[in-house]
Amino acid sequence: MSANERNLRPVNLPENWNPGSWRLRPALQMPSYPDAAELAGVQDELRALPPLVTSWEVQALRQQLADAQEGRRFLLQGGDCAENFSDCSSAVISNRLKVLLQMSLVLVHGLRQPVVRVGRFAGQYAKPRSADMETRGDATLPSYRGDIVNGPEFSAQARVPDPRRMVKAHARSAMTMNFVRALVDGGFADLHHPEYWDLGWVTHSPLAHEYQRMVANIGEAVRFMETLSGSEVHNLNRVDFFTSHEALLLPYEEAFTREVPRQWGWFNLSTHFPWIGMRTAALDGAHAEYFRGIRNPVAVKVGPTVAPDELLRLVDLLNPADEPGRLALICRMGAGKVADRLPPLLEAVRREGRRVLWVCDPMHGNTETTSNGYKTRRFDNIRSEIEQSFDLHAAAGTRLGGVHLELTGEDVTECTGGARDLGEVDLERAYRSTVDPRLNYEQSLEIAMAIVRKHAQ
Ligand code: PEP
Ligand code: MN
Repeated sequence: MSANERNLRPVNLPENWNPGSWRLRPALQMPSYPDAAELAGVQDELRALPPLVTSWEVQALRQQLADAQEGRRFLLQGGDCAENFSDCSSAVISNRLKVLLQMSLVLVHGLRQPVVRVGRFAGQYAKPRSADMETRGDATLPSYRGDIVNGPEFSAQARVPDPRRMVKAHARSAMTMNFVRALVDGGFADLHHPEYWDLGWVTHSPLAHEYQRMVANIGEAVRFMETLSGSEVHNLNRVDFFTSHEALLLPYEEAFTREVPRQWGWFNLSTHFPWIGMRTAALDGAHAEYFRGIRNPVAVKVGPTVAPDELLRLVDLLNPADEPGRLALICRMGAGKVADRLPPLLEAVRREGRRVLWVCDPMHGNTETTSNGYKTRRFDNIRSEIEQSFDLHAAAGTRLGGVHLELTGEDVTECTGGARDLGEVDLERAYRSTVDPRLNYEQSLEIAMAIVRKHAQ
């Protein structure tokens, strides 16, 4: 080992850890595969397949997240609650990219800061469920756990967990990734051409005027800079896009955990930025065990029942050396609870001087069921949780460094409220999610504008 290599070696390689050491801990939310040999065979097949991301991209994201932690960037993380195999299509992928690009344009312009763009896509196929079984009428079947595990149809055949679905999920993720990379490399994300991102609605939306004014301002600023410098501003031609998903299905994640030459240690190369969901974040659980050993930046969802000392122990476990950009805490308290539950956590982490990126997920604490049976979220609650979080961080002397949203580029009606003031009756019109309700493109843009307005106060 050269002196240089020794210097690069992280001081905190995890002890007693390997990509399968999670098997010694209680693993919640795992499907029961009927055939263990078939599962092992699929894992071997996955281990031989190429990864979806590279370790240097992962390291680049980690640097950007470190910047966000320090207040020099803002994280925008968003996408579907769950991807479906059938939604792996050109239109769905490019529309979702358009919304994220439009939102990041609004944020860059309003916050005067670069935005870290992270999609909830190219692998967001596994879902935690509140019950293992689902009963309809006389029949009880295993719950639907996302397309990577079983099918959503309520039939015995569809609901049997099938390991072959992991191979399909990898292929769908690779196709999604490939298309996103090709679009971005081909100039789709070029700031010179925000018109590429138009989604039919722009002409008739109540927000169109504000957005178009912003686009015109940015266009003018770009032209001004180019006149001054006498050349094109090249770094506007492309932007980075990173991927993230809930790393719930550990046999899949394990198979993509690879040792990278000269990088010291193991990376999950199925995504840049995996997170642990709220239901699987127990300190002594299998997910925390798996996450402590990988070198990706990682995130944990933090719900309203987490106590400050419990959170500090999780921070110690996942980031023992307090490395910048390593750990994001995605808080999802609900608009009615955030003022009560967030401040003690902010205070504990600040008091201990721990380095984390604080992120607000204003979706998952605000889910409710309407009288006509739809799972929905009110736009005003979503906006309120973000706005309150900004104020609570200001009061605690900490910084809200990003948001985590469920959104789509499709014209769905799943969340109520927003500029068009969707009501409960509108949900019937275009409710397409098989899991949680998402912001449609217009509501998403409105959230970006609300963040900018709040920030300017
Ligand atoms: C999700 O992000 O879709 C999710 C299930 O969130 P949480 O773990 O915060 O409930
Ligand atoms: Mn969700």
